[in-house]
Amino acid sequence: MAEVYLKERGVLGRVKTQQAPKVPIEMALSVHSEYLVDSVRLMTDLGSGQIGEAAYASPELLRSALRAVGGAVRAGEAVYEKEVRHAFSLMRPPGHHASISTAMGLCYFNNIAIAVKNLQAKDGIGQVSIIDFDDHHGNGTADVFYADPDVQYISIHEYDYENYGTGHFSEIGYGDAEGTNVNIPLIDFSPDASYRSAFEKIIEPAVRSFDPDIIAVSAGYDPHYADPVGNMDVDSSTFHHIGKAVSDLVREVNAMGSFWVLEGGYNPFAIGPSIEASLHGLAEKSLPSLQDQVEREINELIVESNERIMESIVETFSPFW
Ligand SMILES: [Zn+2]
Repeated sequence: MAEVYLKERGVLGRVKTQQAPKVPIEMALSVHSEYLVDSVRLMTDLGSGQIGEAAYASPELLRSALRAVGGAVRAGEAVYEKEVRHAFSLMRPPGHHASISTAMGLCYFNNIAIAVKNLQAKDGIGQVSIIDFDDHHGNGTADVFYADPDVQYISIHEYDYENYGTGHFSEIGYGDAEGTNVNIPLIDFSPDASYRSAFEKIIEPAVRSFDPDIIAVSAGYDPHYADPVGNMDVDSSTFHHIGKAVSDLVREVNAMGSFWVLEGGYNPFAIGPSIEASLHGLAEKSLPSLQDQVEREINELIVESNERIMESIVETFSPFW
């Protein structure tokens, strides 16, 4: 759906495109246990059933999951090989909930984590920052890199303690990696203003101080106000803002570039304009007027509560930055 929209809007005609390659199943083992990889393979053979919480098998699962891994890996390599400065993998299923041994939340293999591991094995890649703006906490990605001091994971998300219990700002990383896991848990119905504030006060200073060689982005569009799954209140202007912020950060820290991997985003009419806005931001073009941009009332109490949360986060990380 997003692809059709982007084609109709002429966006795909202005960027280089290529098919996501197939990758061998062994590639998933750089992050995942044999148990999970075997589960996905065996459940695909079965063709139906459940692999984990809200993670379902289908006859095409393994094939599509490996293509999504391939898209993320190729996007990372396209930046590393200097073919492009920024790349975007427009693939599903998403990956950021997939942990080392657990499929969850429509995620089977952790595409972005596998792509980052693939880059870490290459010359010239010391440190990698991952910025995850999906509505939900990327618990899988956080787990994979929780004790890795060379990968900074920053997640801005709707805090859902009741259902998941992960994503609090007190989870800062382990051992040598303390200070490299940065959570920005915001409250339900957070507006554009809170996202902008988080980039300015936390995400941008965090990336500057970590000084990565490349930036990976878990691009989830379910914080959109029209999304049926997420409960946040942003529109495509925030995704444009994020695109521009990432482009600026790449320049400031003199990184190779950024590669984006699609995560959530479940309203077919919102995800197209949201991705289009991100790409305009990344290309440092001004925000186009898009169909989803409508006046919405801002709840100042939510903005103020988020500001208080962000003050605590800045204080938590002050020894590290
Ligand atoms: Zn999500």
